[in-house]
Amino acid sequence: MKEQPSPTGTRCPECGQGQLLSLSRTEDFDFDLGDETVNVHAENVPVQKCDKCGEVMSGPAAAKVRHEALCHAVGLLTPSEIRALRDNFGWSQQYLADLTDFGVATVSRWERGRLLQNRSADKVLQALRDCPAFREYLERLLALKSGKEEAVEREKPPQLAAYCDATLSMEGAEQLVRMSEDASCLVHAGEDLPIADKAALLRKAASLQRS
Ligand SMILES: [Zn+2]
Repeated sequence: MKEQPSPTGTRCPECGQGQLLSLSRTEDFDFDLGDETVNVHAENVPVQKCDKCGEVMSGPAAAKVRHEALCHAVGLLTPSEIRALRDNFGWSQQYLADLTDFGVATVSRWERGRLLQNRSADKVLQALRDCPAFREYLERLLALKSGKEEAVEREKPPQLAAYCDATLSMEGAEQLVRMSEDASCLVHAGEDLPIADKAALLRKAASLQRS
């Protein structure tokens, strides 16, 4: 434990005798993720310790440091990294929520360190940060959904195909088909086919267009 105590002038609420000292310390603790337990190493955790009874107290500042250390230990984006990703693109929390269908309250909790995103959500966030094509794809879906792009309605089939290639997952292709249906712009072949078949057709069309 690294300690550089400084008096706070506050009496200990625990024993009522001693004075609380401010210090920062290193903490190691286990965190249960449900399917695994990770060991977390947190440095410079700001706490207050009674010089009489030894009681240690900490508040939101310590919780923030512990949470960031936990994110590093698990390999997840930290709250400040999520915030930076959003700021970098000039997105509001609401816009990020609309893009991804994560709730805006959830995004807010991630950024305040009140909630730890799971690995799949984290992967979506990292893809948004690192992959321009994925950003464009989600922004296009959102624009279609919001009906803000009527001008490009007529050229949608090639546009949609351009966002879809043989590497797109079936889920992604199915979502694309659903969006195109919402926009009254069906993949023309086989209107009565199940959505999975339409998605397969869309992927096929996209790969032909590219070859
Ligand atoms: Zn005390």
